[in-house]
Amino acid sequence: MSTDQDRAASSGPNAPNGVKRREFLKVLGVGTAATTMLGCTQEKVEKLIPYLISPDQTVPGVSNYYATTCRECSAGCGVIAETRDGRTIKLEGNPEHPVNRGALCARGQAALQGLYNPDRYRGPMARKNGQLQPVNWDEALQIFAQKLGETRSRGGAGSAVFINQHESGSFPGFLDAWLAAFGMPPHLSYDAGADHAVIAANRQTYGVAWPRLDFRAARLVVSIGADFLDSWGAMVPQQLDFAEARADHENAPRLIYVGPRRSLTGLNADQWIDCKPGSEMAIVQLLGGQASAQAAAQATGVSETVLDAFAREFASSTPSIVIAGGGGADGLEVALAANALNSRGNVGTTIKPNEGYLGFDRMASPAELRALATRMITGGVSLLMVRGANPAFTLPKAVGFAEAMARVPFKVSFSSYPDESSELADLILPDHHSLEQWGDAEPVRGTISLQQPAMDPVFDTRATSDVLIAVAKKDPANAARYPTADYRSWLIGRFPGGAAALAAALPHGFASGSLAEPTTPRPVPPVHATAPIEQSSGNMYLVVYPHPFIGDGRGANKPWLQEIPDPVTKICWQTVAEMNPGTAERMGLANGDLVTVRTAAGSLTLPVLRYPGIQRDTVAIATGRGHTHAGRYAKAGLNPLEILPDGEDRAGGVAFVSTKANVTKAGGYAHIVTTEGSARQHGRGIGQAIAIADLRAGRPGYDSGNANAAEIAQAGGTETPAGERPEGAAQHGEEMPGDASHAFLPGMRSPVANDAQGEQGNPLSNDKGMYDPKHWSGMAKRRWAMTATPRTTSRPLARTGKSARSCPIEQALAPICCEVARWRGFVSSATTRAGKTAAPISTRASCR
Ligand code: SF4
Repeated sequence: MSTDQDRAASSGPNAPNGVKRREFLKVLGVGTAATTMLGCTQEKVEKLIPYLISPDQTVPGVSNYYATTCRECSAGCGVIAETRDGRTIKLEGNPEHPVNRGALCARGQAALQGLYNPDRYRGPMARKNGQLQPVNWDEALQIFAQKLGETRSRGGAGSAVFINQHESGSFPGFLDAWLAAFGMPPHLSYDAGADHAVIAANRQTYGVAWPRLDFRAARLVVSIGADFLDSWGAMVPQQLDFAEARADHENAPRLIYVGPRRSLTGLNADQWIDCKPGSEMAIVQLLGGQASAQAAAQATGVSETVLDAFAREFASSTPSIVIAGGGGADGLEVALAANALNSRGNVGTTIKPNEGYLGFDRMASPAELRALATRMITGGVSLLMVRGANPAFTLPKAVGFAEAMARVPFKVSFSSYPDESSELADLILPDHHSLEQWGDAEPVRGTISLQQPAMDPVFDTRATSDVLIAVAKKDPANAARYPTADYRSWLIGRFPGGAAALAAALPHGFASGSLAEPTTPRPVPPVHATAPIEQSSGNMYLVVYPHPFIGDGRGANKPWLQEIPDPVTKICWQTVAEMNPGTAERMGLANGDLVTVRTAAGSLTLPVLRYPGIQRDTVAIATGRGHTHAGRYAKAGLNPLEILPDGEDRAGGVAFVSTKANVTKAGGYAHIVTTEGSARQHGRGIGQAIAIADLRAGRPGYDSGNANAAEIAQAGGTETPAGERPEGAAQHGEEMPGDASHAFLPGMRSPVANDAQGEQGNPLSNDKGMYDPKHWSGMAKRRWAMTATPRTTSRPLARTGKSARSCPIEQALAPICCEVARWRGFVSSATTRAGKTAAPISTRASCR
């Protein structure tokens, strides 16, 4: 481990060997960054310059490993950063970390591409003559200090606003103390991807923002639109827990997914119930005994037989888990009603508030941001500071946040990257990347997850915390409050046990204890409550949902995340309008045909993707793409928030499913950007899914969709084992006329999950594309190396979420068949947890 003295000696301006380490690393970074970043892209690769003089503690070609914390979302997973030749080259989950237990999601993996992003701000910038121009740090800090002074002297400190990315740990408290020292109100902690209705309902029901879900203890999991394997809540631990629960064949819970669009969680479900958007409450009332199956069928469009069987299965399955995804105009009410269903013995058994995740506490709602926009427009904000958030993009355009920002006299951005909000700023003080700076998080109560630099900064950036300390030191009224040299020293000063304890904990990446200030729930501001979706006009329901990798748009500037096919649609680099094949057929629309989706807020014209896993009257569009000012990679696609009306649920969250839209054929065509040659396996069993009851009984696989549920219901409902083909039931349509022989495959044969047949697909279709035995490619004759686990195996076959441990390239390849990707993800994750020993881990005491 290096010492601070080493650092000072080797990297300071008077370094004895005459080489400035940081400058040297910057040169190296050009080549390494370019190589790491570009991967599969065709951009020009710059020169790679090898070491001539090795920086301190670095042996060329030998990796160091640093345990730190992922800050790509607020979950606070533990990361091991592999650093070689002074540059971080690979991230993996920390096997010891209590939150992610060695797993790391794709967003976490792609943090590297944020680090080396060629569009990052190279250094501070200030607006001069209407243009943002580079300035040095001295000038930038002087401008900032001057504006703070002016704001205070004019009596405007009370109307200054600081929007910070939502995070747990010490920084929020540090920031509020700094703001208070300058007479400013506490910051707004913002996460555009959070499910505010669910958080509010959880607080009301369980007293915590996000309880842990113990899937192993449940017999039945009912998800009302909660995509818990993907973008809903603490996804990595939820993926791990669900995979483990499903790996235990004897006790695995059944999963029933309710919602108009079959998400990744829906594709992993034993049964999909495709209700109309906005009708989820009718389902919850049915389960709660407040509505009959007949009434629920009328409201949801689902068959009464299916609903009756569902209600009976729910009544007889305890303990269970019922979760709701929010997102609709009545998201809070649905989430509260779903939580109420857990009062039948689930709380404490399968729903564990005492083991909750703290990453969802103290979050400002979009309603607060919308109220802020109103204040900005009327001149009520004297100074706006934004760090790690992009409200000009992530709020519906109808809110008018960008226009409101233009009315604020002075705006400061601490963003590392250009985005729609930072481009409106007057001063940019670019933050270090999380892999370049100190920090901490408290993802679960009693665990401090440590964040340390894994390498020297790539560009001339500074940690925002250090900038705030530097500015306070310049202020005569506040200098005495900040005696520490920097934020690292400040953190050490309050770490339980001090520097020695921190040094002992850093190799593990976490420590016991708590650094965070106690939090109180934020009051819900007045909201723009949205009218029920049925009161809007249009020929289809519009479902806007978060992209699994790009999210609210944060991932759009990372080509790995653009390139990885969406695990459900297999789309890359593109925004599409997902429509049911039957509906598309009726409108004369093939894949790629352009449609215009028009709401009261605006219109988008985009290509159609026929997806059987969507309700017939619904068009679905993913968020996150379509940036205008977020760098070269983020321009791809379109932003559906441009056509989403300004409406909120009663918790102040954006109502993503709140309006109908008029969908019309626009004329024209765009190539669909997909990795998928065919959405089906055509009985070839490349990647296989099997209902859990079949697996337990050693029977050949069978379907797992709505059709199965209907047949079970017809054969006596819950008396028939879930997933079992009832005696006398018709042969399933998986037997396609003209199908190639696949007798060589093991016994399990069932539609790949992406077929999402439900009751809406056309399993009798003869359209086999390139898998047709008569197709010129001869594809049907090939035997693929990918094989599914024989049904007699004792090896866990879990139909879990997106791969948790694979590298992005692996993830990009694996979805050739989504079921294979899931299987691989689980096996990979399990193998790592069981057998892999973490490499010796270093601490970054010498690095800033
Ligand atoms: S869930 Fe993914 S993005 Fe969020 S902290 Fe964990 S690894 Fe990072």
